[in-house]
Amino acid sequence: MNQPTHPRLKRIARNQAHMLDLLKRLVNIDSPSTAPIQTSKISRLVGAKCEELGAEVSYVPAPGAGDHMKAAWDPGRSSEKGVLILCHLDTVWPEGEAQRRPFRVVADRATGPGVADMKGGVVQALYAIGSLLRDDQMPGRPVVLLCNTDEETGSKSSRETIENLARQSSCVLVLESSAPPDGPLKTARKGVGRFTVRTHGRASHAGGAHQEGINAVEEMARHIQDLHALTDYDRGTTVNVGVIDGGSRSNVVPAQCTAEVDLRVSTLEEAERMQRLILGLEPLMPGARVEVEGGLNRPPMQRTAAIASLFAVAQRIGQELGLQITEGSGGGGSDGNLTAALGVPTLDSLGPVGSGEHALDEWISVRTLVERTALLAELLRVL
Ligand SMILES: [Zn+2]
Repeated sequence: MNQPTHPRLKRIARNQAHMLDLLKRLVNIDSPSTAPIQTSKISRLVGAKCEELGAEVSYVPAPGAGDHMKAAWDPGRSSEKGVLILCHLDTVWPEGEAQRRPFRVVADRATGPGVADMKGGVVQALYAIGSLLRDDQMPGRPVVLLCNTDEETGSKSSRETIENLARQSSCVLVLESSAPPDGPLKTARKGVGRFTVRTHGRASHAGGAHQEGINAVEEMARHIQDLHALTDYDRGTTVNVGVIDGGSRSNVVPAQCTAEVDLRVSTLEEAERMQRLILGLEPLMPGARVEVEGGLNRPPMQRTAAIASLFAVAQRIGQELGLQITEGSGGGGSDGNLTAALGVPTLDSLGPVGSGEHALDEWISVRTLVERTALLAELLRVL
């Protein structure tokens, strides 16, 4: 690596060991979305760090999830809208995972559960703000950091807080990690829908009364083919039946079958069209019934002119720092989908370059953790 020349980057690079210490602490505390005691523990730890940095910290209790942590710098002192930074503290990993494969750094790679998704981003937020404070360069308007604890399960209990804070903000920065090799910032993300399809038939003896049964698994199989036929890669629409569950034993014509369906779409119009089609499934076999519930849980993040100009600012700052910043889009949803859908310019994947989210080979690049911290600090300074 070339030695950094930009003063901000140089100063942050000197903190690398401290950043990795904090990342190690965060990664080595298991924080599955489904364990409120664990996620609250990590929420308090991050909140205490924010208090050390002079923030006004509050916790939002959430039924079934750990406390969400909100830290605000300069709240109420400026009438201007501020910048909202979004991170999540929960991971998809169960308790015990960090003990099985604790945080490690080998050469430029840091590994461990949640290192990319997205504990690296949390460290980045704290050190970017710390760097601005030390240089007395915090912007003259509010900076709010929200760390929620239920992102991986759809942000059900934090959605309202996220949306309220976004409405009070001029822009939103999401610190999810970014894909190798160059870590494009995301200016668009697909919308995500979840549906449950249930088919009902009539049970009967598969030997003695085969013709009297209505096979709910067969009914479902036909719907699965129809659902999958709705996938249209050119439009950016995909449907995936990921789970099915039906029948009890091979000699019984099954009366019930359930399927879990994932939908991804690029635009809101397409989301509405697809929702109508999926919710409107009609029985295909005589006597069968079908029920569908569900809908869009994260609207698509569409690339607006305001998002494009936010990206342009990040790219220009990247140039000043000697970093090449590229643009991309993603099929996965994040909390940025929620804020972009409100019309608040949102830039995502500002976190370190890494990959393997939700997989055993999850990693981030330590160099980019430092670089993206400098990028974030400079963005906060000028936005
Ligand atoms: Zn994430």
